[in-house]
Amino acid sequence: MEMEMRSISDRDIGTDITPPLTPFSFSLHNTHLHTHCSSCFSLITPIIPTTNHSHSTFYCSPHCSTSHSPIHLSSAERHLPSSINSSLLRTALRLLLLHHTTSLFPRINHLLTNRLLLTCQNDDVNETIRLGAHAMATAIANHRGGGSGGFSEPYDNAVLEKSTDALCAVLTNAVEVHDNEGCAVGIAVFEPAFSWINHSCSPNACYRFSFSSSSLLSQESKFLIAPFTRNSQQPQIDCGVSGSSSEFAQGWRICGPRLIVRSIKRIKKGEEVTVAYTDLLQPKALRQSELWSKYRFLCCCKRCTSLPFTYVDHALQEISVLYGDSSGLRTNYKFFRDMADRRLTDSIEDAISEYLSVGDSLSCCEKLEKILTEGLDEQLEENEEKSHYKFILHPLHHLSLNSYTTLASAYKVRACDLSSGDFEIDSNQSESKAFDLSRTSTAYFLLLASGVHHLFNSESSLIASVANFWVGAGESLLTLTKSSGWSSKFVNFDLVLSNIASDTKFECSKCSLMDRFRDSILNGKIKSEDFENVSNEFIHCVSDITHKVWNFLVYGCHFLKSCKDPISFSWLMSIKNSVDVGANDIKTDMCYTHEPENSIGVSDELAYTDHTVAHILQLGRHCLTYGGLLAFVCYGPNSHLVSHVQNILARENNFLFSL
Ligand SMILES: [Zn+2]
Ligand SMILES: [Zn+2]
Ligand SMILES: [Zn+2]
Repeated sequence: MEMEMRSISDRDIGTDITPPLTPFSFSLHNTHLHTHCSSCFSLITPIIPTTNHSHSTFYCSPHCSTSHSPIHLSSAERHLPSSINSSLLRTALRLLLLHHTTSLFPRINHLLTNRLLLTCQNDDVNETIRLGAHAMATAIANHRGGGSGGFSEPYDNAVLEKSTDALCAVLTNAVEVHDNEGCAVGIAVFEPAFSWINHSCSPNACYRFSFSSSSLLSQESKFLIAPFTRNSQQPQIDCGVSGSSSEFAQGWRICGPRLIVRSIKRIKKGEEVTVAYTDLLQPKALRQSELWSKYRFLCCCKRCTSLPFTYVDHALQEISVLYGDSSGLRTNYKFFRDMADRRLTDSIEDAISEYLSVGDSLSCCEKLEKILTEGLDEQLEENEEKSHYKFILHPLHHLSLNSYTTLASAYKVRACDLSSGDFEIDSNQSESKAFDLSRTSTAYFLLLASGVHHLFNSESSLIASVANFWVGAGESLLTLTKSSGWSSKFVNFDLVLSNIASDTKFECSKCSLMDRFRDSILNGKIKSEDFENVSNEFIHCVSDITHKVWNFLVYGCHFLKSCKDPISFSWLMSIKNSVDVGANDIKTDMCYTHEPENSIGVSDELAYTDHTVAHILQLGRHCLTYGGLLAFVCYGPNSHLVSHVQNILARENNFLFSL
């Protein structure tokens, strides 16, 4: 019996379609046990120092402690050996404790366990379940027997069975809970109203978390979705919410992070509501393999079944093949392309993970930019002939996008290191160097945002990613305008600065973005037509301003200079005849022409004018405000990201008046 949730009425974008939903069970990750409240997941300040009791719980308030600690003490989790004590097993044990009464194969408390599919292969997932369920059953036996650890107490098979079911239900239904900063702090299994919402790679809804204490959550929003069994016309009345009869369940329902589902597209009455279970900026093959390994299903959504691939999926995996001396490659094109994909993936992932573990930002920047610019050179043997090939990633390939994210942050880190460190070069020189680094970081933020925006034009469910990227670009641009590097670099800068206030109005005269953002927050909603109009105006403005500052922003960065127009991306569409090998496999309307290094359209000049700062300021405000508007659509007016944008804009406004 496959469940789905459908909309019970016509809905516009940016509507909360569920009230705040409560979790059935949840747990912080081990890494966040000492920084966040185990009950409501809010950040604890000051942070409690790590003790030897590595899996103890901490609470933000007596209220959280009272409602949560009975569960912590009764769920047997203290009896898990610490090597295996994880958020996954704690969540499963708590699920068993709270909802032990209604296990009904193949569902536990109306949640699909997916047990048969998860355990049918002899793989890592099966092993995790086997070991986990054994540890759970032992812990429960030890807890009941009053034992103090070790695998002393035997358990009966029924306990093992229940443990396995609970564990599978958690694996199948748990979502990663992200805090306001976007950091994954724990997992939670929510009530069926959420767990029954199916996945799509082009979903019409998204969800957010709320960490406020229970009293603030009583605002009466209604369910605008109802459960249906697949292909039926009658809604399922029993949502399963009333099913928990455990003695702890009552107290439990007032703690835990809440989840709210919100529409990101227009949804018609009776239409199925879907959310994403995976990162939508991955190409089809990666999405499919992740969905299979985690949930054991093959996605048959519109985006996945589209043939030829959708524009977005095409862009996310496009690799151009440039080659010199052979007309080969025809027969083994797919083989070579897959090989190139693997090697490019390996080298980029190596560079990124090395950066994350060792923290050598300089080496990371050099490696990634080399791969982006030069691609992969391969000497390949085909039909006993050796040929030289070059593989170049499309600028919107998912690996390119990952690289931009890493580069934006690595350049930023290098700039900060330089301005804070005591280096032996003179301070003016290091300030100037730090300025160059943050400028490059900003250009990558902008390229990332506009690149993903380009994809968003064809796939509107990418809205949450775009929102975050535009906010990031906006913040970076605004920070750049305040850099002390300007005066060390440009002699007339103080004069320029004094002119900005009179030159630049806070509002843009060419678009209604600011007004629209304010109105939306004031009214709590935006119509899709208005959203489309203001998006067009935004791109118009941003494209206009970017043309004036792009040469300045990308100065000195070889790779960025090859991106001629980061806003329209029209340069991506040119058709290159020489890639016409194995025409049937690869011919598309968007072959990426990689420009030879000496014919780059961007000039080598620094391109600084007296208006540059004012333009960057304008650009930053546009990006930030638009990011805020997108955040409003997918997260709502009271969300962290929207308030964050509002705060920066308010500061900016004051800053401008104070000049
Ligand atoms: Zn709390
Ligand atoms: Zn799909
Ligand atoms: Zn404008």
